[in-house]
Amino acid sequence: MSSSAIIAEDSAVFCADIGGSFIKFGVSRRVGDVEETTKVPTPTASWADVVTTMQSLITHYGAGLPPHTPLALSTAGLISSQTGELLSVNIPAFTGRPLAAALSAALNRPVSAANDADCFVLAEAHAGEAQGCTVVAGIILGTGVGGGLVINGQLVRGQGGVTGEWGHGAITRTELALNGKTYPIPRLSCPCGQIGCLDTLGGARGMERLHRHFHQRDRSSMEIVDGWLNQQPDSTLTVNAWLQLVAEPLALLVNILGPSKIVAGGGLASSAPLIAALDKQARAGVLHRYDQPLVTPGKFLTQGGLVGASVLARMV
Ligand SMILES: [Zn+2]
Repeated sequence: MSSSAIIAEDSAVFCADIGGSFIKFGVSRRVGDVEETTKVPTPTASWADVVTTMQSLITHYGAGLPPHTPLALSTAGLISSQTGELLSVNIPAFTGRPLAAALSAALNRPVSAANDADCFVLAEAHAGEAQGCTVVAGIILGTGVGGGLVINGQLVRGQGGVTGEWGHGAITRTELALNGKTYPIPRLSCPCGQIGCLDTLGGARGMERLHRHFHQRDRSSMEIVDGWLNQQPDSTLTVNAWLQLVAEPLALLVNILGPSKIVAGGGLASSAPLIAALDKQARAGVLHRYDQPLVTPGKFLTQGGLVGASVLARMV
């Protein structure tokens, strides 16, 4: 814990993880622990409804707590480190608002906010698989590809709130050699406006696209991973291609950051064998020789937002 923390670690804080569909809410009395968790639908259209929902959660779960107990938020989307505005998130009620400042004024208490990938990395660095590590990179292998960075326990909030977004940047490789055959790599438009980003092929959605590209069949990412584990030829080809496409940019990320640990989150991180294979392939391509596993699944694959918020609430 940073010496600049302004709130004693044993003081309670409210934590909320705001997604496009649900708000998860809890009370934390210690970094890394969040209790009394509940889940309510996210009011997506109206800011007034957001304030009312948060106020009712605080009232319900805050009995006996000090009146200005802080609230920390994990949210989808990027938060500008310059303006505090929430960007590129599919929740109209939040778009363009300085989320933490607006909620702080409305709820009359300190409010801090960070995006969900950043909260996941904070959780892992303070209470999960990367405790005590100097440089911790988080990689999110969810629907797409995201990430975040914590150095010396502090969240790195980059220019415009963009840090660790290694999913956006074109894959430089144009073809893959697999099983003695050469396959072209699809170059797809990315929501960020570029073409061929890792995000288009490197998450669960990307693995499914690769499978369709190679085999003209639709299978879910979990079915593909299961097929790979069971040595089915089609799925093995897809996963081997995926591993190569993801491991190469990941090795570059490692060479740039020199992380002590990389924690993987998102749906694909629930497959420990997949992350172990990615770790092995990435480490084969980096300059520093890591003798121990570098990339590991996070501890907080489902609670990273709330647990990260429990860290965030206690930081300046
Ligand atoms: Zn992109």
